[in-house]
Amino acid sequence: MKVIPRDQHCVSRKDISPNALKVMARLREHDHQAYLVGGAVRDLLLRGHPKDFDVATEATPEEVHALFRNSRIIGRRFKIVHVRFGREIIEVTTFRGHHESDGKPGSQGAKQSHRGLLLRDNVYGTLEEDAVRRDLTVNALYYDSGSFEVFDQVGGLEDLKARQIRVIGDPDKRYREDPVRMLRTVRFAAKLDFAVETGSRKPIQNLGKLLDDIPAARLFDEFGKLFLTGNAQATLKLLREYQMFEHLFPDSARLADGNAFYASLLDAAMANTDDRIRADKPVTPAFILAAILWPALCERREQLERQGEKSFPALHSAGQEVTAQACQRIAIPRRFSMPMREIWEFQPKLKKTEGRRVVELMSQRRFRAAYDFLLLREQAGEDCGGLGEIWTRLQEEHGPIEVKPAGRDERRPPRRRRRGGRRNSSPS
Ligand code: ATP
Ligand code: MG
Repeated sequence: MKVIPRDQHCVSRKDISPNALKVMARLREHDHQAYLVGGAVRDLLLRGHPKDFDVATEATPEEVHALFRNSRIIGRRFKIVHVRFGREIIEVTTFRGHHESDGKPGSQGAKQSHRGLLLRDNVYGTLEEDAVRRDLTVNALYYDSGSFEVFDQVGGLEDLKARQIRVIGDPDKRYREDPVRMLRTVRFAAKLDFAVETGSRKPIQNLGKLLDDIPAARLFDEFGKLFLTGNAQATLKLLREYQMFEHLFPDSARLADGNAFYASLLDAAMANTDDRIRADKPVTPAFILAAILWPALCERREQLERQGEKSFPALHSAGQEVTAQACQRIAIPRRFSMPMREIWEFQPKLKKTEGRRVVELMSQRRFRAAYDFLLLREQAGEDCGGLGEIWTRLQEEHGPIEVKPAGRDERRPPRRRRRGGRRNSSPS
């Protein structure tokens, strides 16, 4: 294990959340080891600003929970402890150990399916063991806020310097254990603008199909991290290059491959989303999903029209079917799929640009998103007869309009995070 003393790295306590420091200090006071780990150390070493601070310790979840009144144990697949300080949550994970499949004893807590997928992983271990259970070398660096040292068991520092993403251990095996790691490889390569080391890239081509076995709810979580964290454009490009997009959105991937307009619609939607995040404007999965699934929607609508359905009913049924189909893979909650479909169904309404209907349309709560979507279609090269410009002018002429209140579906506050199931900072 490489130990890097304080004067040879740039991680500094002043850049670390005081709450994370508090948690680590308290663990140390009780004779436990405690390290900052994962994305926080990676981002600090890259002189960036971590979005959250994860802590790793040898103390069991129960021991950690006993030390913090403001904590609770979450997760079943991977038990972790959340220590809450107002809005901030410090995630504390217990070092993971080896598994039966590694030929090491003491692994009653682990369970693996016949295809090598990890089902349960509550075997505890040492820092050294924990490091090799993590996904990427750059995500497996540890910082000791007591001694100010950085610990590197897997060559993460070298990879950070070389700006490359490398899977720890045998990539083929690690991807089989948890296929979501393939998405994480791409996500971090896009986010950090790192290259993917050859050995970590090659197996993805063959293994992409394993994503089909991942629970749809987990894929929706990943979807958000892939497309709503400011690097959607680069991420989509890599996902398509690595042939993974087709396992997330099969119809859209197929149609975008054969149609330049759809491809540029997707690209423009991603670029717009990234711009909005950079400008600190809110983004919603509904809008970006409306764009991603638009090719599939158009195809299905045309089929239905050819079968004799009238234009609006065809659009409506196509929306329903395409949503249901997409949800089999990626569980889109209704509070996003409803507005997504409303954006679609608003598109033909925007063809009416005269009469009293105009103000009525502008006052509908989905107008703004639908108008943005129209602009997106035009930006991607669709000929909408100059409608975008007309609506821009109409809005300017009319000035501010009172938007109708939200329907029942939207007034409901978003649900809090699910209790179980979520795993984040714990390696497996
Ligand atoms: P960010 O939070 O900036 O997106 P992160 O690296 O902190 O990046 P998380 O998803 O928060 O990513 O996970 C925290 C850490 O847990 C990772 O750095 C990695 O070490 C480990 N980890 C997360 N998911 C997995 C996984 N599927 N397999 C192995 N290790 C994982
Ligand atoms: Mg994190």
